[in-house]
Amino acid sequence: MAIRKIREIGDPILTKVCKPVKEVTPRITELIDDMFDTMYDANGVGHAAPQVGILKRIVVIDCGDEEEQPIVLINPEMLETRGEQCGLEGCLSVPGKSGEVRRPAYAKVKAYNEDMEEFIIEGEDLLARALCHELDHLDGHMYTELVEGPLMTSEEAAELMEKREMEKAAQEETGEE
Ligand SMILES: [Zn+2]
Repeated sequence: MAIRKIREIGDPILTKVCKPVKEVTPRITELIDDMFDTMYDANGVGHAAPQVGILKRIVVIDCGDEEEQPIVLINPEMLETRGEQCGLEGCLSVPGKSGEVRRPAYAKVKAYNEDMEEFIIEGEDLLARALCHELDHLDGHMYTELVEGPLMTSEEAAELMEKREMEKAAQEETGEE
């Protein structure tokens, strides 16, 4: 159990395509434990191995409230996406920033667990967003490539959300769409 150093945007390792895991060795188990420690320490909901400098197709996710979480995904593969959601997204490799990203509202992923047993996971809302975001990391992609509008600091993002809420409330009062 250890907290590892999180690679940040600009580090070339984050742009590389990761290699599939062939076997879950004790080193891989240790890596997965460390990825959870590192993610929880940084208050993240998802973490991919390249973010700690390891080019392997491993993702961990914990969005909190759902029964099957936390989730370990080894060699994950996107099977299906549906719908659309637009919302703020951040990344442990882009500290202190967030931006608006359009993602599918639903995602279905096939992966292997730590016993190398195949399973399917379906997610909506935050889980769908996390699955898309983390799987992108394994192919060297970051959410910053998809951001619509500026990358914001947390204060700017909070201001924007407050403005949206007020606009929404005003629209509801006047009965407009
Ligand atoms: Zn990320």
